[in-house]
Amino acid sequence: MSVATLDATHDAALQSWVPSANLAGTDFPIQNLPFGRFRRAGTTEPLRVGVAIGDQVLDLQRALVAGGWGEAARGWLTPLAAGDLNAFMAQGPAARRGLRATLSAALRVGSPGQAALPSCLLPQADAEMALPCAIGDYTDFYTGIHHATTVGKLFRPDNPLLPNYKWVPIGYHGRVSSIGVSGQRFHRPKGQTKPTPEADPVFAPAKRLDYELELGVFVGAGNALGEPMSMDAAEADWFGMVLLNDWSARDVQAWEYQPLGPFLAKNFATTISPWIVTQEALAPFRVPFAHPEGDPAPLPYIDSPANRAQGGIAIALEVALQTAAMREAGLPPQRISQSNFADAYWTVAQMVAHHGSNGCNLQPGDLMGSGTQSGPEAGQGGSLLELSLGGTQTLTLANGESRTFLQDGDCVVMRGRCERAGAAAMGFGDCTGTVLPPR
Ligand code: MN
Repeated sequence: MSVATLDATHDAALQSWVPSANLAGTDFPIQNLPFGRFRRAGTTEPLRVGVAIGDQVLDLQRALVAGGWGEAARGWLTPLAAGDLNAFMAQGPAARRGLRATLSAALRVGSPGQAALPSCLLPQADAEMALPCAIGDYTDFYTGIHHATTVGKLFRPDNPLLPNYKWVPIGYHGRVSSIGVSGQRFHRPKGQTKPTPEADPVFAPAKRLDYELELGVFVGAGNALGEPMSMDAAEADWFGMVLLNDWSARDVQAWEYQPLGPFLAKNFATTISPWIVTQEALAPFRVPFAHPEGDPAPLPYIDSPANRAQGGIAIALEVALQTAAMREAGLPPQRISQSNFADAYWTVAQMVAHHGSNGCNLQPGDLMGSGTQSGPEAGQGGSLLELSLGGTQTLTLANGESRTFLQDGDCVVMRGRCERAGAAAMGFGDCTGTVLPPR
């Protein structure tokens, strides 16, 4: 098993019998087929696993019953029908690729599925989404070098990028219990901050509340404790990606982060988009990866020919903001920045291989954040800390409001899209979250 390659499921000409999947601009054409967990909105029924297709969800519990599947497909669908995406992740890349081919065939115009499966669809508008799987551990990396440099300048003007950055995929162990799915609402956290260098610290609602534009990577089968994860294994293993908002209280962070890194500044909420876009779906958008001329080459344990040839993934990212006043006036969220995951300093496989390189066991459903993805240009910051240059520049919105950091009632919307000539364009769905007043 190696990196996902292009096959018949990526054919841009494929059409689904689900009409909304064929509309230009949908995030979920038949070439995507991401996994999520849902129930019918307003019910307390058990969560089940579904696949997004156009504006519908294919309910895999019903789909298994609807029948017509071969023996292998029944084996893949059985844990999914029971709502257990982790058990399917544990089956590894062969299962992921096999089920993708099977579902692609069943959802195609003219397939036998066209008669058997329509009763297994639920409009996404009628579904309540949950976290896509059980997340055992969450690690947040720091692969955005433009973010690391800009933020480093704000925290340490004399020493922006620490010397380990270009050698080690830096990360910290985060908190799982406060991870929520798109639509998450959370209260502005209180925390300990130091208002001025001279003053004693205070405990109060954070004043410099921020978002971070990230991608999240889900581990597939993982590795056994004590058995290092190799680059080859990492490249094939990772299951898929979501959008991730690593909400951050900058005033708390600035006071607490040395010497052990982020703690309460980041563990009060993390929001992810509901649909895991698989490694296979992203195959058409892989791009070559290299460190800039003059930077150290990655050490051999996080280097490979496949990673150099196609370790990067071009995902266009954006952040939009909708204030309470905009919402009341019926105004849509306003885009405030754009960047691309192709600019990351480390690849998905390098994050996974580095994490498991010491024999740390990665498990199905473990989540890794990419770190904030900022572009190289001014105005491409993936956080307000960058866009406001540490709170010194005010961002003026189209309705006349201004921001340096988030206000209560603000809703942050993240989006990700993949587009390339000759491939079907696809996206991740929304990742939204709203700040409520402190408690
Ligand atoms: Mn982060």
